[in-house]
Amino acid sequence: MPPGRLWGRRSTSFCPLTDFPARDYVVGMTQATQLVPANAKLGTPTGTRTVEAIHRSTEFHWVGDGFHVSTYFPSVNLASERMSPFLLMDYGPAREFKSLAQGKRGVGWHPHRGFETVTLAWEGKVAHRDNAGNRGVIGPGDVQWMTAASGIFHEEYHEEQFTRQGGRMHMMQLWVNLPKRDKWAPPGYQPILKGDIPVIDVDGGTVRVIAGTYAGATGPARTFTPVTMLDVNLKSGTQLDIPLPESFNAFAVVAQGRVRASGTPAQAGELVVFNNDGSHVALVAESDSHVIVLSGEPIDEPIVQYGPFVMNTAEEIRQAIFDVNRGKFGPVPED
Ligand code: MN
Repeated sequence: MPPGRLWGRRSTSFCPLTDFPARDYVVGMTQATQLVPANAKLGTPTGTRTVEAIHRSTEFHWVGDGFHVSTYFPSVNLASERMSPFLLMDYGPAREFKSLAQGKRGVGWHPHRGFETVTLAWEGKVAHRDNAGNRGVIGPGDVQWMTAASGIFHEEYHEEQFTRQGGRMHMMQLWVNLPKRDKWAPPGYQPILKGDIPVIDVDGGTVRVIAGTYAGATGPARTFTPVTMLDVNLKSGTQLDIPLPESFNAFAVVAQGRVRASGTPAQAGELVVFNNDGSHVALVAESDSHVIVLSGEPIDEPIVQYGPFVMNTAEEIRQAIFDVNRGKFGPVPED
């Protein structure tokens, strides 16, 4: 759907937004996830957070022609406000791409304003370029933390050699909100390579600390508000306890394997939302498992999203569209 139609008309003053694939970024209230009954144990005396709900993906879509993802939130059953400061999660489970002799797969130049995009790759390689002059490749184990803030254009494609050879792509993109005071900060770019990320050995597994702290290690990501992002691998039978402030929203995405969270089973492809009712989350791996644990201090401000923009008011969204059309987001490289 062309962006103009979301305003109830095809307004030439709001367009042309057709020069970027906003369609790929318009997230409506889809039925992309379904609730799975969580048989949470209430009132655990140990300070372990109980499980509010398990969300399972039911729909996948393409972002451009490169990323086959499910938008776990925002969705009908899972609002951005509940996940704050996280706004959106697109998850692309491992998928095989055939070799491509010519051309490229991905999504071309498009703007963002008001938040950060965080891209994680476990398999495959994503090539990124923005009009602030940053470019890089997000390879297996790498994380790219891009601050769009006041405004940026970027493009996201499969890396060229990966495209030619083909292979598996396994990735996630999160949108992390910025508080009102920081939505006008200059754009930023943090290429976080696998080797920059502390790996903590736990009994029966590893915890990679991307943001926040775990067991005395601090992740390299610089964030505007407190965020914890842990990439966890556990051998079957291992239990992991993660202290998190009770006020932080917290969820875990099972990428591989099966775990129990406060007695509630969750398997690959499921997202576990924890209640804000304890001092830590506890995961028990029932098979060799890969889990991404995400948490952060909620930003208690209005969220107004329109396609690639996330602001606090509709007026600020209109401003973003005007600013894109007036070139305020800067030029986009020709080549
Ligand atoms: Mn983007």
